[in-house]
Amino acid sequence: RGASLTDFAEKIGVDAAALVQMLFSLGEMVTATESVNDETLELLGEELNYVVEVVSPEDEDRELLESFDLEFGEDEGDESDLAIRPPVVTVMGHVDHGKTKLLDALRKANVVAKEAGGITQHIGAYQVAAEVDGDERRITFIDTPGHEAFTAMRARGAQATDIAILVVAADDGVMPQTVEALNHAKAANVPIVVAVNKIDKPEADPTKVRGQLTEYGLVPEEYGGDAMFVDVSAKSELNLDKLLEAVVLTADASLDLRANPHQDAQGLVVEAHLDRGRGPVATVLVQRGTLRVGDSIVAGPAHGRVRAMLDEHGDNIEAADPSRPAMVLGLNAAPSAGQNFIVVEDDRMARQIAEKREARERAAMQAKRRVRRSLEDFMASMEKGESQQLNLILKGDVSGSVEALEDALSQIDVGEEVSLRVIDRGVGAITETNVDLAAASDAIIIGFNVRPQGKATEMADREGVEIRYYTVIYQAIEEIEAALKGMLKPVY
Ligand code: GDP
Repeated sequence: RGASLTDFAEKIGVDAAALVQMLFSLGEMVTATESVNDETLELLGEELNYVVEVVSPEDEDRELLESFDLEFGEDEGDESDLAIRPPVVTVMGHVDHGKTKLLDALRKANVVAKEAGGITQHIGAYQVAAEVDGDERRITFIDTPGHEAFTAMRARGAQATDIAILVVAADDGVMPQTVEALNHAKAANVPIVVAVNKIDKPEADPTKVRGQLTEYGLVPEEYGGDAMFVDVSAKSELNLDKLLEAVVLTADASLDLRANPHQDAQGLVVEAHLDRGRGPVATVLVQRGTLRVGDSIVAGPAHGRVRAMLDEHGDNIEAADPSRPAMVLGLNAAPSAGQNFIVVEDDRMARQIAEKREARERAAMQAKRRVRRSLEDFMASMEKGESQQLNLILKGDVSGSVEALEDALSQIDVGEEVSLRVIDRGVGAITETNVDLAAASDAIIIGFNVRPQGKATEMADREGVEIRYYTVIYQAIEEIEAALKGMLKPVY
C-alpha cells in the first residue's frame, strides 16, 4: 500500500528529511510527502536496522478495534436476522444542473415530512418515503450534492452510497463533471439512475442526453441497456415520484440491501460540527444494528454517550435503524465526515479507543509540522552547511525540449547549499550508456517524451539508477524542485 515518508518518519521517530536524503543516496528521488511503496519502506528500514512491517491506517485501526474484541463492517447473527434496509443515495452531476434544487424538491415533496408536519432541517442526510407497487418504501439521501463528498468518504475507505443519481440538465447535456461523476460511481461499483433535469425548459432535449450517455456506456433501459433514465423538473416538481420509484427498482434489481437491526449499531459520520448551544453534534448514518439513546459510542477520535438523537425534522428519536440518519448529541468532539462510529460496551472503552485514535491523528499532524519547521531552520542556518549536488542527465525527444528543460531547471532557486548540475544531455532514447554514466556519477536520468532503449531499464534497476519520465515540462520542474528542497540538510 505504501505511505508517505513523512508518515513513516513519524512512526519510527526520525526526521523525514533524513529519509529523503537516505533514499537519495540509495538512488531514489522522492519528496517527503510523496507516497513510496512498501519495498522502499522496507529498504529504508534495513538501512536503519529496523524490521519494517507495513501496516495501513485501516489495518492499524482494525487491530485497535480487535484488541477490544470489536470489528467494524460486518453484520452479525444469522441470515434470518437480516431485514431490508433503504438504499442510500448520493446526487451527483455537473455544476448548475440542479443537484441542490433536486435535493430540496425531494425533501419538500416527501410524505414523511408532511406527516411530521415540520420543515426539514439540514442535518447532512434525510429519509423520504416513496410508493412503489402499493408499498411504502424509504430512501435515504445524502444531503451534500456533488462527488467531492462521495470521493472524500471513499478516500477514508468508507462507502456510504448504494446508488448514485446522476443529474444532467436537458438544456445543457453531458458536461465534464457529468463524466467525472459517472466515472466515480463506476469506480465505486455504484449503480446509477439518471435524472434528466430541467425538462420544463423549452430548449430541453432529453433524447440528446440519452444519446450522449450511451456513448459513455450508460445505456437507457428503453434502448436495451440497464440504466433507468427519468425526465424530471426539480423546479416544477415534475416526475419526482417516478425518480424515487426508479431508485427503489434499481436497488431491488441490482443490490441486496439487507442489514441486521438486532445488534449494536455501526455506521458512518456524514457531517459534524460544534454547535454553540448543544456542543459537538454529529449526523451519523446507521449501517447495521440499531443506535439508541444511552449507547456508548466512539466516532473517529470522538467518544461519548448518546444523550439525544434528532431526525431531519428536528424531532427527538429514541432509536435509529439501518440506513437511518440521525443527529447525535453527547460526543466530546466533532469527528470528520467519513469516519466510522461504533457502539461499544461502556464509556470507558469508548474513551480508550478514542484516545488512541486521537493520539494517532495528533502524531500525524505533528509530523507534518515538524518537517516544515526543520526546513525553515535549515534556511536560517544555511551558510554553515556543506553543499550538496543533484546530478542530472537529460534526454528529450527534440533538442528544443531538452534546452527548454535545462533552461527552466537552471532557474530553480533553492539557495546555495544545494545545487543542481546537468552532467549530460541529449536527444533520443535513454541508452545503457546514459545509465552507465548516471551510475558512475550518482545521477538521476530525466526522460522527456522518450522511452528507454534495449536493456537500459534492466540495467538501471540493477545499478539503482532512477529514471523519471515526463511529458510536461512544468511537472518535471516542479518535482525536481520539490526533491531539491527535500534534500536540504535536516537540522538535528
Ligand atoms: P447545482 O449546482 O447542480 O446544485 O444546481 P442548482 O440546484 O443550484 O441549480 C442551478 C440553477 O438551475 C438554479 O438557478 C436553479 O433554480 C435552476 N434549476 C434547477 N433545476 C431546474 C429545473 O428543473 N428547471 C429549471 N428551469 N431550472 C432549474
